[in-house]
Amino acid sequence: MRESWVVPPAVKVGPLRYTISFAPDVGHRGAWGECNSGLRTIELDTSIPPQQAPVTLLHELMHAVWQVYGRHDDTPELEERVVGDLAMGLTQVLQDIGWWPMELGEEPHGNTA
Ligand SMILES: [Zn+2]
Repeated sequence: MRESWVVPPAVKVGPLRYTISFAPDVGHRGAWGECNSGLRTIELDTSIPPQQAPVTLLHELMHAVWQVYGRHDDTPELEERVVGDLAMGLTQVLQDIGWWPMELGEEPHGNTA
C-alpha cells in the first residue's frame, strides 16, 4: 500500500497526453473537475476537498478514456451517467482494498485505507 499520493502532472490515454492540474473556478458549473478533450486537459478545482479529489480525478480520467477510445458518438447524457456511476463505484471498491487514495491533493496525502 502506498504511503502517500499526489496527482500526477500528466497521463497518457491511448496515444494522447492529458495534463492534470489544479485551477481556480473549475467548479463554476457545479463540478469539482473538468476534462477537456480538445485541449487534452484535466483540471481539478483548487478548493476541492481532499476526500472528494480521488473520485473526481477518476471521473475525469474516465471521461478522457471514454473520449479517446471512441465513445464520443454517444450522447453526453449517457457518458455523464456511465462515468459518474462507474467512478463512484470504482472509487469505493479500490479504496476498500487500498489501491486508490482516500485523500488526494496538490500536496501528498496519506492513504488511510
Ligand atoms: Zn463528468
